[in-house]
Amino acid sequence: MKYRLGIDIGGTKIAYGIINEDGVIVYRYKTATNINASPADFLQTLAADIDGILRAQAFSREDLIGMALGFPSYVDNEGVIVMSGSMSNLRGFDARGGLSQYFPDIRTIVDNDANIAAIAEHKYGAGRGFDHMLYTAVSTGIGSGFILNGKIYRGAYGGAGESGHMLITPDDGMLCGCDNCGCFMSNASGCMIIGHAAKAIEGGRASVLTEMVGGDLEKLTAAHINQAFQSGDALATELLDRIGYYLGIYIYNFFVSVNTNCYVLGGGMIMNFGDPLMRRIRAAFDRYNHYKGQEVYIKFAELNEDVGIIGACELLI
Ligand SMILES: [Zn+2]
Repeated sequence: MKYRLGIDIGGTKIAYGIINEDGVIVYRYKTATNINASPADFLQTLAADIDGILRAQAFSREDLIGMALGFPSYVDNEGVIVMSGSMSNLRGFDARGGLSQYFPDIRTIVDNDANIAAIAEHKYGAGRGFDHMLYTAVSTGIGSGFILNGKIYRGAYGGAGESGHMLITPDDGMLCGCDNCGCFMSNASGCMIIGHAAKAIEGGRASVLTEMVGGDLEKLTAAHINQAFQSGDALATELLDRIGYYLGIYIYNFFVSVNTNCYVLGGGMIMNFGDPLMRRIRAAFDRYNHYKGQEVYIKFAELNEDVGIIGACELLI
C-alpha cells in the first residue's frame, strides 16, 4: 500500500492527513498555527510535525508517494510564498526548498490552499460536472481557485485566484495584508468585518455587540456578529448585508470577465452565516446581472473540513 500526505495550513490550525491508495483518510492530526512565526521557526515546527507523523505511522518513507501542502498565501510556481495576508512574516519563505532540505527523499508540492480546495470540490464536491468553476473561501481572508476547461488555472506566476485582493473601493476601507485599502477582502472578509464593526461602534453606533464583549472591542469575533445578527441587531444585519453585497459583485465580475457558471463558496464565514448570507450574495448578483436566462450556480462547498487534505493529495496523483 502506498500513501500520500496532505497538509492544510490555515490561519488558525494546520491539518495533516494521510490518504491510502483507496482514497481513504487513514490518519489525521491537527495543531494550532503560529501565525506570527518566522519562516525558520515555521519550517522547523512543520518539519518536526511531519517527522513525528512519519515515525508514528508504521510504514517506511518508501511507502509515501509524496506530500503536498496548501498555504493561505500567494505561492509561486517554485513553492515560494510571495505574499500571505494572514501570515505576513512568511513573505519570501521558500517552503518547498526548506522542506526538501529536511526531507530530500520525499516528493514535495506546495500550492495555494484555495487552488487545492478548488481541485477537491471540482472532483468530489459541489463543482462535479462543471467544466468551469470558481471556488472561493471566505473566512479570515478571501481566496479562490479557478478551474478552467476542467483544470486548475494558476496563471503566469502561480498567483491566479488571489481574487480577494481585487480592488473594489480603492483607497477606501481597511488596510489589507496586500498593502492596499479597498480590496474585496478589506470589505467582506471575516477579519475585516470585525474592524468595520469596531469602527461603527467607536463612531457611536449602538449594538448588542458592545455588551457581548463587555465593552472590549478587541475581543470581537465573527461569531459575535453572527450571534448579534440572529438576535436581530441592526448593525450586525448591516454588516451581513455588506458582506453579501460585495460577494455578489465579486461573483458578477467573474461572470462577466471569465463567464464561469459555477461558484462554489466555502470557508467559515459562508458555512457559519449560511443561508442568510447566501441569499444576500444571490440577491446582489441578480441585481446587477442582466444576462438573464443563462444559469449561474452559486453553491455551498460540500467537502467541509477535509477539503484541504483531499485536494492536496490530488496533486500527488
Ligand atoms: Zn487585499
